Amino acid sequence: MVRAIVGANWGDEGKGKMTDMLARDADIVVRFQGGANAGHTIVNNYGKFALHTLPSGVFYDHITSVIGNGVALNIPVLFREINDITSKGVPMPKLLISDRAQMVMPYHIDFDTYEEARLAGKSFGSTKSGIAPFYSDKYAKIGFQVSELFDDESVLREKITRVCTIKNVMLKDLYNKPEIDEDELYNTLMEYKKMVEPYVGDTSLFLWNAIQDGKNILLEGQLGSLKDPDHGIYPMVTSSSTLAAYGAIGAGIPPYEIKQVITVCKAYSSAVGAGAFVSEIFGDEADELRNRGGDGGEFGATTGRPRRMGWFDCVASKYGCRIQGTTDVAFTVLDVLGYLDEIPICTGYEIDGKVTTDFPTTGLLEKAKPVLEVLPGWKCDIRGIKKYEELPENCRNYIEFIEKRIGFPITMISNGPSRDDIIYR
Ligand code: GDP
Repeated sequence: MVRAIVGANWGDEGKGKMTDMLARDADIVVRFQGGANAGHTIVNNYGKFALHTLPSGVFYDHITSVIGNGVALNIPVLFREINDITSKGVPMPKLLISDRAQMVMPYHIDFDTYEEARLAGKSFGSTKSGIAPFYSDKYAKIGFQVSELFDDESVLREKITRVCTIKNVMLKDLYNKPEIDEDELYNTLMEYKKMVEPYVGDTSLFLWNAIQDGKNILLEGQLGSLKDPDHGIYPMVTSSSTLAAYGAIGAGIPPYEIKQVITVCKAYSSAVGAGAFVSEIFGDEADELRNRGGDGGEFGATTGRPRRMGWFDCVASKYGCRIQGTTDVAFTVLDVLGYLDEIPICTGYEIDGKVTTDFPTTGLLEKAKPVLEVLPGWKCDIRGIKKYEELPENCRNYIEFIEKRIGFPITMISNGPSRDDIIYR
C-alpha cells in the first residue's frame, strides 16, 4: 500500500516526525519533489537531525530510501547528510537514486543568489539552494538528469557547451558575474558520477515491483499545499508541486495506488519567506509562540531564520487539506499551546467587507483580514498522554472545533517531537 505524508499549510508542520514514526511499519520511503531548500527536523534515539534531502526513513535499517525522479538532487548536500548521520551512529542507509532525477548544478545556486540580490527588497525569500533555477531549467529542457552522467564524454560535453552558452550570457550581461568554465563543470559532474554510481537505478520500476509484492511505501512531501506552484500563494511558492497527487509523478507510480493521504496540520501557524499570511501575529505574542514552538523554537531547519508566526487558520487549512485529497489529518505540535489562557483561531477572512471561509487567489488574499474566534486554553502539559479521552476537555474542544471547520478527520494527534508522542483516535 502507498501512503503519502504531506503538509496542509506553509511547510514545517511536522511531516518529518510523522514520516519517521510511520516508517516503523513501512518498507520504503520516497522523496518525490523539492530539494535541499527545506528541512525536516527529526528527534529519535540517535539524536536530533535536520534532513534536507534524505527521506525521513533513513533511521531504520529495514527501510529502503528512494530519491525519486521529481526531486532536485543536490549531490554534495546528499553525501554531506549521509556522512552526518553515519558519523552519529546511524547505519548506512539503503539508498536508491532515480536515474531520471535531475541534478542541482553549482550554477543553480549562484543564479538563485544573484537573482535574490538583483530583486533586493522584492525578493521571494528564497533559501538560495538553487531550486527555482533548477526547476526552470528542467522545464526549459536544459537540466541534467543523473542518467546523463553515464553518457559518452562527447555527448555530455556537447550538452554542457549548449547550456553554458545560455547561462554565460546571463552571467555576463545581466548579473555581471564570472562565467562558467566548461571543463571545470565537466570535472565536477565526473565527481558527482563517482559519488552516486553505486546508488543509481530505475526507481519507478523498483517501486512498481514493490507495489506488486505488497510492500508498504511512504511518499514524503516537502513544504505544504500553500507553497504549491498551482494551488498555493503564487508567486510566493516553491517550484515543484507539494501535493500528494504529484507523488505519483515524482515517484513514477500509478496515481490509483496512493490509498491514504495523511495531511499534516500544525496546531498553530508558521511560515517562512514572503507572502500573505492572514492569521499572522507580531511582537511579544509572536516571540513567545516562536520560542516555545516545535522542538526548541520555530527557526528554519535550513537557514536558522525565525519563522513568521500566527494562529491556526481554518480557511487556509480547510483548503490545504482539500487540495491534498486528504484521507487523514495528523494534528501536530499541540503540546506547545498549553501555556495560553485563551487561544484565538482564524475562522474566516474578511475581504472587501465580506466574510468568506474559502481560500482566495493571491490578490484577494493580500486584502484579507482574519476573523478570529477565541477558545479557552487548557493550561497544562499534555505531553505523555496516550489516549484521546485523557486530554483535557478544553484541548479536545480545540481539536474538535478545528476538525469541524476544516471538514477532514483528525485521526492522529502529535503531542511531542518524539516517535512515541502520538495519540490515535
Ligand atoms: P517538517 O518540515 O514538516 O518536517 O517540519 P519541521 O521539522 O521543520 O518542523 C517541525 C518541528 O516540530 C521539528 O522541530 C519537530 O521536532 C517538532 N515537532 C514535530 N511534532 C511535534 C509535536 O507534536 N510537538 C512538539 N513540541 N514538537 C514537534
